[in-house]
Amino acid sequence: MNPAEEKLERRIRMHGPIPVADYMAEANAHYYATRDPFGAAGDFVTAPEISQMFGELAGLWLADLWRRAGRPDGAHYVEFGPGRGTLAADALRAMRGAGLDPPVELVETSPLLRARQAERLAARWHDDPATLPGDGPLLIVANEFFDALPVRQFGADGAELRIGLAAGRFVRSGEVESEESPASVEIVRTIARRLARQGGAALIVDYGHDRPGTGDTLQAVSRHAYADPFEAPGERDLTAHVDFAALAGAARAGGALVFGPAGQGDWLEAIGLGLRAAALAEAAPGRTAEIEEARHRLSAPDRMGRLFKVMALAAPGWPAPAGF
Ligand code: SAH
Repeated sequence: MNPAEEKLERRIRMHGPIPVADYMAEANAHYYATRDPFGAAGDFVTAPEISQMFGELAGLWLADLWRRAGRPDGAHYVEFGPGRGTLAADALRAMRGAGLDPPVELVETSPLLRARQAERLAARWHDDPATLPGDGPLLIVANEFFDALPVRQFGADGAELRIGLAAGRFVRSGEVESEESPASVEIVRTIARRLARQGGAALIVDYGHDRPGTGDTLQAVSRHAYADPFEAPGERDLTAHVDFAALAGAARAGGALVFGPAGQGDWLEAIGLGLRAAALAEAAPGRTAEIEEARHRLSAPDRMGRLFKVMALAAPGWPAPAGF
């Protein structure tokens, strides 16, 4: 039994069943603190690990906005949950090519992943957005970050569902009717307030739904397959679908403009995935098939193109972002 599982068991034995959100938070904190889960040999593969094109296009998208906003001084690159730092490295390289070389601020709680990020990036690290720089526009990216944040779940009678123990196993107190992620909503509200005050924009990419009210979306992934979220907490990636309508509401309440969500495939193609793929293939003709396969994985509706969605936030007065 890993330390997270032990801690959860002890807490439930001592104090009784705990909210689903507490279970998820404890499990994921241990999961990300103890491994690099990305890639074919790990548990799952994310868009920036599929192809450099993803991070490069994110960087060019931010650089384009910054240029059209009049190249304001003092901009910062900010990323939430940067994983291996691949997206940031690709985005920053593309931004430098476009005349933008901002300092890097990473919001990351895993000490192990912070160390991975430090191998590739000169950056400052933050536990949460509160300590991000207070002046200068923020150019923000969050890819597959919000799906890892805890969700609260509620039953038909509106009561919050809890996780208890029965015959040595974790069990949930009832059927799920609805779900919300107060942690996600709070972070988006904070980002929106900062954008309204400091300028800038945010790119939020995740899998999820446009409309609230889809019930239970808590799931576990291990070695590229779905697994039981109530088994081996801390050893499996726990995620929930992102409720983009709730995030959009929080962003507007915080004072930001909201664009999308659009399908990841439509957005990537609209901002030049085809052109980027063609340029890479021209530079490395031997890799043409591999590059086309990566483009397909990122954008085809039956791959990541439709389930993954892209939502942008912008400061009032900033230009409309490309691709929506
Ligand atoms: N963006 C990366 C990684 C996604 S996985 C990619 O696309 O490959 C989720 C990331 O969020 C990991 O880096 C994880 O350590 C981080 N994370 C999870 N919960 C967090 C929290 N509450 N605060 C900050 N970072 C968190």
